[in-house]
Amino acid sequence: MNKLALATLILAAACSKKSQENKDPGSTPPPKDPGSAQQPAPGSAQGSGSGGGSEAAVDPKLIEEAKKFVADTDGELRRVLVAGARAEWANQTDLTDEHEKAAAAATAAVNDTIAKLIKQARKYEPILGKLDPSTKRQLEALLYIVTVATPVAPSPDDPKQSAELATLAAEMTSAYGKGKVCTPPDAKDPKQCKDLDGVSKVLQKTRKPDEALAAWKGWHDKVGGAERDLFAKYVPLANAGAKAIGFPNVAVMWQSGYDMPAEAFAAETDRLWNQMKPLYDQLHCYTRRKLNTLYGDAVVAKQGPIPAHLLGNMWAQSWGYLYPELEPYKGEARIDVTPVLEKSYDEKKMVELGEAFYTSLGFEKLPKTFWERSMFSKPPGKEVVCHASAWDVEYNDDLRIKMCVQKTTEDLRTIHHELGHHYYFHAYYKLPVVLQAGANDGFHEAIGDTIALSMTPEYLKTKGLVATVTQNEKATINQQMRTALDKIAFLPFAVLMDRWRWDVFAGTVAPDKYNEHWWALRKKYQGVGEPVARAATDFDPGAKYHIASNTPYMRYFLAAVLQFQFHRALCKKAGHTGPLHACSIYDNTDAGKALWSMLQLGASKPWQEALFELTGQKEMDASAVLDYFAPLKTWLEGENKNQACGF
Ligand SMILES: [Zn+2]
Repeated sequence: MNKLALATLILAAACSKKSQENKDPGSTPPPKDPGSAQQPAPGSAQGSGSGGGSEAAVDPKLIEEAKKFVADTDGELRRVLVAGARAEWANQTDLTDEHEKAAAAATAAVNDTIAKLIKQARKYEPILGKLDPSTKRQLEALLYIVTVATPVAPSPDDPKQSAELATLAAEMTSAYGKGKVCTPPDAKDPKQCKDLDGVSKVLQKTRKPDEALAAWKGWHDKVGGAERDLFAKYVPLANAGAKAIGFPNVAVMWQSGYDMPAEAFAAETDRLWNQMKPLYDQLHCYTRRKLNTLYGDAVVAKQGPIPAHLLGNMWAQSWGYLYPELEPYKGEARIDVTPVLEKSYDEKKMVELGEAFYTSLGFEKLPKTFWERSMFSKPPGKEVVCHASAWDVEYNDDLRIKMCVQKTTEDLRTIHHELGHHYYFHAYYKLPVVLQAGANDGFHEAIGDTIALSMTPEYLKTKGLVATVTQNEKATINQQMRTALDKIAFLPFAVLMDRWRWDVFAGTVAPDKYNEHWWALRKKYQGVGEPVARAATDFDPGAKYHIASNTPYMRYFLAAVLQFQFHRALCKKAGHTGPLHACSIYDNTDAGKALWSMLQLGASKPWQEALFELTGQKEMDASAVLDYFAPLKTWLEGENKNQACGF
């Protein structure tokens, strides 16, 4: 998780690939993407009219003023961000009422300050093209990027509305965090109640449809239900906040953080999804048939959507727990490093193993303070937020990881994911604070996953984590299936989360249609359907953390694409020639150098340029996903031959 984001920290969930989640800079020419003329203008209301004078001479005093504003902003923003991160770190590593209050106050200060600064910055928007590149970029980042890269909910101008917005946000997060499913529903004994972890475990393990349905429905009724009215009140207020800083609504505000016009970005996400849809369709087809065989026609029909409660995950966003049922070649050994970790590793040693991957690329060792200040396991006697997250608390290379490491393959991957954030922080921490961010927010989430793609069986053998590696076609297909059940199954969910919210915030869906629209999108993108009839009074989107916490989600979709694009480019730099899935860049400093050049840019350039730096491409490109999974796709097409696929 990226720390710029205080609230995002909570969203650390998104970082940890486990459990429910799955989980800027310098001086340059203007973005080159077509359509954005001279500004990465978010196709929003702002700028309208004011740009007319762009050819007129600009008052040199105004230019000087803009420079000073940017310099002052760095100081002010840094102060509130650091204060916010300190308070949030204190809270998440020691949950007390006092810490929670302090963290809420610090977060409010961040929200207020960012909203204030953006309003002030609008004054310089008409002269962006006349400013020196560094001043211009910092203003652009403030105007367009901060609002999506951080979970800011800008305050409406009316103080009453502003207070109400903050209260609703806190209530939604709290209702989610406290969510429990009890049997019977009015049970008083805590032993009869399960939190999200508890009900998730049911979905992971049970193969009895009734049990799965009770867990699914319990969580959605209880938590979604609790969110419904709060969310309906939240939407217009959040939109008022977006308007106050110059955007027509939250949807456009979120879509504007990508160095291209808002509509172009929305179209871009569709383009990427459509590149990968044929692969997803094959995986869906195969999975549906297997589940049909397992459960029969009455539970899983041969056609149409798969019921959402049978995919091993509360949101059907990753299907890894179904692997035993879906394993292509029974008994063909899968890589599992858990036994070695259990025997010969402790938490810190696992993190050191992750660090060693990065240093093998030529990166520096993590600073000494990282080892002193991090939280690697749950401290005795304290309540903490265990979801893995990565921090630079002081915005000056004060790197820390917060995680309750379990000795499992999954957590080893999560460590590599988090360290990707750390090395990004480390690469750009000297930049102005507004540019201390990923080239876009998808980049930040993608780096560690890119590295984890290099944890091939051969790599694990090199590190002594597995004794032998089976090299054959069957083992490859099994391995790819396991990966696809997480990474490919995730794609449509990652797209529809914000598709739904874009529609909601843009006002094209009325509150009484919220749930209906949610299921229309789930069917359209995921081919997943409601397991029981749902009413307009239900609110199933609210059963997902990022809706309750109002955290943008498209970054995870972008990261899911970018990690393969980065991986392909790095493998090329490393001179790899075989199939993409077999490549590991471990120990290759040519690849390391290329990655580092991109990381140290932070957000100082439009992401298109950062991407070009590494890949030679200026567009995000999902063809690398297809390259990587080529063996599995061919295999699935064989399996699905003559079947009626689609949904
Ligand atoms: Zn993350």
